[in-house]
Amino acid sequence: MESHHKVIIMGSGPAGLTAAIYTARANLNPLVLEGLQPGGQLTITTEVENYPGFPNGILGPELMNLFRKQAERFNANLLNKEVTKVNFSKKPFRIITDDDIEYTADAVIIATGASAKLLGLESEKKYMGYGVSACATCDSFFFRNLKVAVVGGGDTALEEALFLTRFASRVTVIHRRDKFRASKILQERASKNPKIHFIWNSIIEEIIGKEEHGKKSVTGLKLKNVTNGQISEHPVDGLFIAIGHQPNTKIFRGQVEMDEKGYIKTKPKSTATNIEGVFAAGDVADSVYRQAISAAGSGCMAAIDAERYLESLHD
Ligand code: FAD
Ligand code: NAP
Repeated sequence: MESHHKVIIMGSGPAGLTAAIYTARANLNPLVLEGLQPGGQLTITTEVENYPGFPNGILGPELMNLFRKQAERFNANLLNKEVTKVNFSKKPFRIITDDDIEYTADAVIIATGASAKLLGLESEKKYMGYGVSACATCDSFFFRNLKVAVVGGGDTALEEALFLTRFASRVTVIHRRDKFRASKILQERASKNPKIHFIWNSIIEEIIGKEEHGKKSVTGLKLKNVTNGQISEHPVDGLFIAIGHQPNTKIFRGQVEMDEKGYIKTKPKSTATNIEGVFAAGDVADSVYRQAISAAGSGCMAAIDAERYLESLHD
């Protein structure tokens, strides 16, 4: 089965849904393939305080629900499917979804965002879901009155640490350097919170745990101080990984140009990729700003770029 569309948008975070609002209002009847995380990364956070238009803040999932409603108001067609394969070498472009349906499009907008990076330890795999998590807002509840650690030094790490203080008895932030890259406001809040403690210049060598009656749980962390090589053990009941994100671009390898980290390359002052008719917006093409508002802004740019491209086909 095959269905043809003028524009297909892959991804339903701030970038994809903004592109949907704009292309739908331009009467391009966009098809949005939402992926496994409808609404994107903001659906796993709580308060969003820096999205303009909401002076008192808004919950991430609520904000994304509003984006979705706005796109649907203009008849964007949203399907809860994941793209598994693309072929941009011929026109129309071909897109295959997880149910083996093939879609074709004259223009595509890639807005597949980014996903949490992991440490890459065997023990991390072993205890993932059994004391190790990459989402505090999803799993904090399980750590009521327990001791947890957060690894990372960016906004996500400190935001997760602050959120965890609502449940855990003690939160230790472990960072590999002696300076955070998180924003000043989050650094201030974290350092003022009596439940939050810091371990600097340290990396996690191993996650220690036990298995009793077939049930796995985390009991501590083996840490290495990178300045003096000293090894120590830190007892915790849980570990939250917050060491950044990587772009979701695996399926686009060999199809569009990317940088060495896998971010899709776009032309200066444009969302155009090296393939005419293929545009990229949001975190998938942005290793610098990675904010909801910048993702939404570039989703708007991609929609306008796609619209102009489609018009140029009739010139
Ligand atoms: P994403 O939000 O990552 O969405 C990607 C979309 O692509 C998803 O819908 C996913 O399902 C879809 N997708 C992926 N692969 C496929 C596929 N193969 N096929 C189809 N669809 C696919 N920013 C702020 O400005 N303020 C904040 O307070 C803030 N808090 C944050 C808190 C956390 C915990 C995190 C992780 C991030 C936070 N950010 C915040 C950053 C912000 O969430 C991102 O910059 C923004 O969501 C990026 O939007 P995006 O549309 O590019 O991608
Ligand atoms: P990030 O800014 O890339 O920070 C990742 C952190 O993890 C860095 O401190 C990094 O250390 C550390 N790290 C990376 N790999 C590691 C490893 N293998 N082992 C140990 N530590 C490692 O990522 P982020 O915090 O997820 O933020 C991503 C984007 O989302 C940012 O643009 C951020 O501003 C945005 N965001 C915004 C908000 C908000 O506005 N409230 C909230 C969350 C996220 P180094 O510092 O040494 O590199």
